[in-house]
Formats: sequence, C-alpha cells, structure tokens
Amino acid sequence: MTKPARTTDTPLVGGDSDRDGAARSGGAVRPGDAAGRPGPEPAAPRLAVAPRLLARAREAARAALPAEACGLLLGRVDGERTLVQRLESTRNATASPAEDTFEVHPEDYLRLDALARSLGLDVVGVWHSHPDSAARPSRTDLERAWPGWSYLIVGRAAHDDAHERSWRLDDDGRFVEERLVTAGEAPAPRTTQPTILR
Ligand SMILES: [Zn+2]
Repeated sequence: MTKPARTTDTPLVGGDSDRDGAARSGGAVRPGDAAGRPGPEPAAPRLAVAPRLLARAREAARAALPAEACGLLLGRVDGERTLVQRLESTRNATASPAEDTFEVHPEDYLRLDALARSLGLDVVGVWHSHPDSAARPSRTDLERAWPGWSYLIVGRAAHDDAHERSWRLDDDGRFVEERLVTAGEAPAPRTTQPTILR
C-alpha cells in the first residue's frame, strides 16, 4: 500500500530464502538491551483485537470477492503489544483488484488517519484478505510493508477454512508473526501455533 508520508525508497525486502519471513511459533528473536543484559523474557509481538472486529474483517473480505478487501487498524501500540480499537474498511485502489494485491486508497488513508487522531489513536496497521491463499504475506505484501505496523491477513477468505494471522516487520525487514490475542485479555500460554480467534 502507499503511505503518503513515506520519504525513503529503501527496500524492506528480506532474503529470498526467507521470503515468507515467518517464525511460525511467533518466536521472533529480540536482542537484549544495549548493555547486553538479558533482561526479562522478551515479549513476543502480539495484536490484541476483539473477535467482533475480526468477524467484521472476514465479512468485508467475503463481500469483496473475488477481489482482495483491505482497510486500516486504528489503535495504540504499547511496546510489543498493539491494541486494535477500530477496524475500518477502505477502498482497494489497485487497478486490477482481482490480482493478489491491494492498495489502501490514499483518500481513505487520509480520512482514517484524521479520524484516528481525533480519537487519540494512531493508524497501527493494515488488514487485507487473500481470497484463496493462506494468511501468510505474499512477496508483494513484504515489499510494501512498513516498519512498526501490523499486517493482519484474512486468509482463504472465499472458503470455509478462512482464518486470520498477523505479521510485523522485524529489524531486518522480514515478517514475523504476531500472536492474535483477545483485546483486554492476557495472551494465552504459548503454543506451537499462534492463537487464532474465531
Ligand atoms: Zn497479501
């Protein structure tokens, strides 16, 4: 997608051997602090979002078929935890929306960025759907991703096994998975698979 304030063309693409960028268990490796102290157990990045918001994304994803749906996440970032308070749909500005691509319409971005500010929130991420493929970022998703934002994907949106996963760029410009947790609740005990809310 296009973020109007972008001022650099520095690519964020990770190595080809890690194109999916996925730490499947959410095991993003975080460095210790600058003094090298081990510090507390590093918190895995996680996205706190209410189930009703995920349901809204899934509904919008179905409504957009066969194209990808997209929109913005408004909320707050608190360390490794991002709290989503609003999930908004936007127009998909891509010329060929049936392709595996999306772009949040710039006018919608500006409108929702203003809305977020008026509510004391920030744009904290983007959501979009994959009609047929799983909720893993595509190469295009990686190339267009922004540091610090969450990328929530509704995978298999046209199918009965639709599901959501969320991703964030690490310091090396690769996607790592964020665990989805229910807003307002402590994260579930770590398992080998991320928590998927339904
Ligand atoms: Zn995608």
